[in-house]
Amino acid sequence: MTDNSLTDLLRPRERRALLSQIEGLATGYLDGIEGGSPASHVAFEAALLASRLGALGGRWASDRAHRLLEIGCRALTAGNPLRRTWLGGIFGVSWIARGIAPGGVGMDLAAVADGCLAEDLASEEARPGTVPDWIGRALYAIHRHEESPSSPGPAALATRAVRICAARASGAAVPPRWVGPDGRAYLGHARGAAASLSLLARARHAGLGGGEAIEEAAGWVAGVVAQAASPLKGETGDGIPASVAPDGRLEAAPFSGWCHGGPGVAWGLAQAAVALGDVALLDLARRVACRAAARGTELPAAAAADPTLCCGSAGRALMYGRLWQLTGDATLRGAARAALHHAAGDLPEWLPRNDEGLALPSTLQRGFPGLALAVSEFLGLPGSWAPLFRLDPFPA
Ligand SMILES: [Zn+2]
Repeated sequence: MTDNSLTDLLRPRERRALLSQIEGLATGYLDGIEGGSPASHVAFEAALLASRLGALGGRWASDRAHRLLEIGCRALTAGNPLRRTWLGGIFGVSWIARGIAPGGVGMDLAAVADGCLAEDLASEEARPGTVPDWIGRALYAIHRHEESPSSPGPAALATRAVRICAARASGAAVPPRWVGPDGRAYLGHARGAAASLSLLARARHAGLGGGEAIEEAAGWVAGVVAQAASPLKGETGDGIPASVAPDGRLEAAPFSGWCHGGPGVAWGLAQAAVALGDVALLDLARRVACRAAARGTELPAAAAADPTLCCGSAGRALMYGRLWQLTGDATLRGAARAALHHAAGDLPEWLPRNDEGLALPSTLQRGFPGLALAVSEFLGLPGSWAPLFRLDPFPA
């Protein structure tokens, strides 16, 4: 890791202006959530936003985050459907809650999440999920294990969840099984090989196996990226394929984001490189990110205009910024700054405005909280707010 800090991407005056803009917008947003009857995940994500912004200054009381957590718990006990995903689902939520209220909020969310994982493992044979389903569960299990390495419960859950992921990701016929329900083998972070690779590398780092599947995943991603060294036919994306069609044709990503496109592929490669201490893999991550950054201006207007965390500029800013921190590559610094300015400029547009009948999604992936959280990472907050977006220093 270089000495670069994400705060270096903004001048002090820009930083002050951005902080005051986010505080103003987020106050209104959180007022609206607290005064309404939000779904549990909306309340939990709002709690995370309040907590992170609270760490930036005195105007934000941490009891706001606690109240929002309690609202989320009430919605859960009222039978709100429980989403079993990382971003915005119970696995991510239990992690969020522990960060905000280590002593608990009247409901043991970690126990709820552990219970969901145990149920899913028990029904795995009867109801085999896809690799993407299991990536989220296994990632949660690895973090539970890392939190309490000597506790046998999380270790057993993590080992089983990782084993299921590894089995799905290896030993399969060509094309490998990073395949969606539509028959395409995906490369990116939402459901693809880059996410599998990052997961398996973390599992090995945590001493939970993951073994040979790592080489297969790394080799497959590198091979697909190399095949796409020249522009894809009819290419509209950032130059890194999103998927391989059943007939073997490479398909361009419709946009350049975390879920599909170069930044997410580079992100998965970099996370794996850090976990494995693999210099060659880190250099591949840098090259993928630089290629995506260089071609990003060729995105179709609609894709370039998306500011969200999952598919748009907020996520790109975070990923290019963290990759710049890790590699010191000046191309990535420029790309992070451009993406950050785009995301910050779009913040006001993405506040839900119910009085106008405009129902924008209010989620981490596709809404204001994720956008505001990503942008606030450039204001000098310690740590990061979700393991999915964590990038540790490269081992010495
Ligand atoms: Zn997306």
